[in-house]
Amino acid sequence: LSERLGGVFDRLTKQGALSEADVETALREVRVALLEADVSLPVARDFVNAVKKKATGQAVTKSVTPGQQVVKIVHDELVHVLSGDGPADALKIDNPPATILMVGLQGSGKTTTTAKLAKRLKEKNGKRVLMASLDTNRPAAMEQLAILGTQIGVDTLPIVKGEKAPQIAKRAKTQAAMGGYDVLFLDTAGRLHIDEVLMDEVQAVRDIASPRETLLVVDGLTGQDAVNVATEFDGKVGISGVVLTRMDGDGRGGAALSMRAVTGKPIRFVGLGEKMDAIETFEPERVAGRILGMGDIVALVEKARETFEAEQAERMMKRFQKGLFNMNDLKAQLEQMLKMGGMQGLMGMLPGMGKMAKQAEEAGFDDRMLRRQIALINSMTKKERANPDLLAASRKKRIAAGAGLDVAELNRLLKQHKQMAEMMKKMGKGGMMKQAIKQMM
Ligand code: GDP
Ligand code: MG
Repeated sequence: LSERLGGVFDRLTKQGALSEADVETALREVRVALLEADVSLPVARDFVNAVKKKATGQAVTKSVTPGQQVVKIVHDELVHVLSGDGPADALKIDNPPATILMVGLQGSGKTTTTAKLAKRLKEKNGKRVLMASLDTNRPAAMEQLAILGTQIGVDTLPIVKGEKAPQIAKRAKTQAAMGGYDVLFLDTAGRLHIDEVLMDEVQAVRDIASPRETLLVVDGLTGQDAVNVATEFDGKVGISGVVLTRMDGDGRGGAALSMRAVTGKPIRFVGLGEKMDAIETFEPERVAGRILGMGDIVALVEKARETFEAEQAERMMKRFQKGLFNMNDLKAQLEQMLKMGGMQGLMGMLPGMGKMAKQAEEAGFDDRMLRRQIALINSMTKKERANPDLLAASRKKRIAAGAGLDVAELNRLLKQHKQMAEMMKKMGKGGMMKQAIKQMM
C-alpha cells in the first residue's frame, strides 16, 4: 500500500497542505486495500473517513513527500483503531484464585488457547494454574484438556461423569481455592452456531464463576462472521477481551481491525499455530504493518491488470460472439466481478437487481466464494480449462484438494459454467452480447 500511495503522490508536484482531491485519490486505494485484507465494509468506510478528516489540510512536512505523509497518517490510524484506548493490559490475575472464563464457538480454539495461556502463566509468571473443562457436549472434550494438561504440566480438575457445566464450575472454584491455585481457567463448550442453549449455559456458568476475565476465542480466518460472534457474545455474556486464533494462516489481519472497531473490545492474544507455545500478545503495530504491507502486492497486481484488461476485453468479446465460453473465460469474469466489488456490488448497480443481490448474499454467494471458484479453476490444467467436460472423478478430487475445497463445490462451479456457456451461446446468436459485455466491463 505504501508504494501504491507513494506512486499516486509522486505524480503530484504540489507542495504545502494536502488538498482534498489528493487525499480522495489516495483514500480510494486505501479502501480497496482494506477490503482485500478482509476488513468489513462499514469498518473500511469509517476508517477511510477518519483518515480523510485527519489528512485534509494537514501541512506536508518538508522532509517527506505528500505520499509518505498519507501513508503515515493511514498507519497511525490503523494502530489507533487496533489499540483502542491503549495497550491491552495483562490478564487480571490478582486476588487468587482468579477465574478466567473461555467462551466461543465450537472449533474456534478455546481448549487449545486455554492450555496455551495456562502454560504461559505458569512459565512466564510462575503462577499455579488449574484448568477445568465444562464441555459436557462433546464426548472427548474433557479428556482433550486433561491430555494437554499432562503435556504442559498443568493440573486439571478431575472429571466427574454426569455433572452439568454450572456444577463443574462450582466444584472447580472450590478446588482452586482449597488447592491454593492462583488462576483457574474454565473452558466452556461451544456450538457450531450461536444458540439460546449455549448462551444460557454460558450465562449460568458466568453467574457462578464471577470471572475476572471472560475471553472470547474466535477463529481469525472467519472474517465477517467473527465480528458477528463477538457482538453476540458481548451482548449476552459480556467479554473482557478477544483471542484471535489461526493467525498463522493466510488471514490478513482484517478481522482484527473489524473486530476492534465494531466491538471496542481489546484483542489480547493471537494464536499462531497448534503447538502449545504458538501464542503471542497482540501487537497493533505488527498487524497494522501486515494490513499495509498487503497493499504492496495489491498495487503490483493492479498495475499488471490494467495493461491486460483492454486486450482481454476485446478478446473475450470475440469469443463470446462465437458462443465460446470455457473455464478461462469464466475465471476472467469472476476476477472482473471481484474487482468491481463482488457479486453484490455488481448486481446492486444494475437496476432492479437489488433484491437479487440480497438473496445472493444470504446464500453465501460473496467475494470469498468468487475467490474459491478462482482457486478451483487455477488448479485445473490448461486442457481441462479449455474443455471441462474432460474431468474424470479422480481429477475432480485432485483439483478440489489442490484448492483446499471439497468436490461438491467444484461440481457447483462446473454446473454454473455449463449454464453460463449455454446462455452465452443463445445470446451470441442474438447479438445481445455486445451490450451485455459492455455492462460487465
Ligand atoms: P474448541 O472447540 O474451541 O475447544 O477448539 P480446539 O481448541 O479443540 O481447537 C480446534 C482445532 O483448531 C484444533 O485442531 C487446534 O489444534 C486448532 N487450533 C487452535 N488454535 C489454533 C491456531 O492458532 N492456529 C492453528 N493453525 N490451529 C489452531
Ligand atoms: Mg474445546
